[in-house]
Amino acid sequence: MNFQQHVACFIKLLDNNHITEFNKRDVCGALCDKFHLIIIFQYFMRADFKEEDYTPENFFLALTLSHDIYEDTTVLKTIIMGFYYSRKQFVANKLIFQWNKLVLFGRMKYKGYVEKKICNNLIDLVPHKIMAKTRRELHTGFLNNLLLCDKCRCPVNTLHAVKLQKYRTDTEETNSKECKKKKCKSVTTLI
Ligand SMILES: [Zn+2]
Repeated sequence: MNFQQHVACFIKLLDNNHITEFNKRDVCGALCDKFHLIIIFQYFMRADFKEEDYTPENFFLALTLSHDIYEDTTVLKTIIMGFYYSRKQFVANKLIFQWNKLVLFGRMKYKGYVEKKICNNLIDLVPHKIMAKTRRELHTGFLNNLLLCDKCRCPVNTLHAVKLQKYRTDTEETNSKECKKKKCKSVTTLI
């Protein structure tokens, strides 16, 4: 397939119901932001995919490969694997998942690294609104598996969480003082 055919197949896959549901669930972009998306696309081209290979299963396998290389935490991969399992008609387990991931990696000739410059250039060539998806700052840097985001239930960066917690406490104190004056109750939700 030529480049434009790959782009067309990828856009069609991004509109697949299962991928749309996945992106809705990933409200903060912690599991798959625009860089992971374009890396998946690059992986598919490296594997010399045909139209029938552009499936949600391969999307989740490629996304997990991208996490293997670019992310530090395994928690996010576990969530992604859950989406892969839910696609299977038969009982899938971790062993099957890892095997299929290795098969895909082999098809990519074991090349998992994609330069950021290539990512930036490719993003503009895939015209789909989801390609603007960015990761919320709360989920960048070193993630603490014990601190989960209220919105997406993914781990957050401890430093950002501390800052937000301090901000939340300060805001609650301010609100409390104001409320005492106004004699009312307030609820503050930040994360
Ligand atoms: Zn979140």
